[in-house]
Amino acid sequence: MKLVVKTWKSASLISVLITALATAVPLIVVGVALWSIPMSQKWGALVVSGAIPILITFPISIFAMYVLKTLHEALDRLDKMVKFDSLTGLMLRAPFLDEARIHRKQLGFLALLDADHFKKINDTHGHEAGDRALRHIAAILTDVIGRNGFVARFGGEEFAVRLPRLGRGQVELLFSNLSTRLRLEGFEYKGHSLKPTLSIGVVAVDGVSPTSELLRRADACLYQAKTEGRDKYVFETLDERQALTA
Ligand code: GH3
Ligand code: MG
Ligand code: MG
Repeated sequence: MKLVVKTWKSASLISVLITALATAVPLIVVGVALWSIPMSQKWGALVVSGAIPILITFPISIFAMYVLKTLHEALDRLDKMVKFDSLTGLMLRAPFLDEARIHRKQLGFLALLDADHFKKINDTHGHEAGDRALRHIAAILTDVIGRNGFVARFGGEEFAVRLPRLGRGQVELLFSNLSTRLRLEGFEYKGHSLKPTLSIGVVAVDGVSPTSELLRRADACLYQAKTEGRDKYVFETLDERQALTA
């Protein structure tokens, strides 16, 4: 049984239950032991046997619940730090890959996305502008993908998207919307309108290929998108797939 204490309400409730149990046991024992004695002579013993556990158990259990609650909060924070990127709020690489491996039999698509000429944003406007650009890309990416899939910050200015259960046409539409929104929306930074774009490599998840191989092939498509001028998506063709998996 897992004891989860996340609010003061549940902490108080559990403390009351523990105290009630700790009070009931000595009361029953004393009650049974003094069964034959008249009530007028034993009420003092009953009051003492009930009062002592209340006075001792309640403060101790409240303190224990406080420690448990603090521990749960710390574990939650730690879990978030391990799973989510603090800059963009997106899932990090390791938990994304764990999920992808768990669901590798689910047909769909996997994409790697890399911000174009990102170093230029840093070099021209500073690192803070680069950070803002990453948050901007992450926000639009999350909005466009929505409930259709899972988005991660894969590292640096690179992102990954897993789109289970979608067909090629739906995926094309999503990435076309994403590119259009990035080209149009941009963000303001110290009087400049910055419009970072993405190059995207997409492979079909066939339910057989290992995730590491899918990533390698998606990276090859991403590289192709870069060499063909950036700000575009490239789907793996059957020929490329055969060449890369041979
Ligand atoms: P390409 O179109 O070929 O991908 O060019 P690029 O400039 O985007 O690629 P390059 O690998 O040369 O540079 C990536 C830059 O992204 C360099 C690195 O400093 C920057 N970067 C990575 N992570 C962060 C971050 O968290 N914040 C900021 N501000 N910059 C970052
Ligand atoms: Mg890169
Ligand atoms: Mg880049």
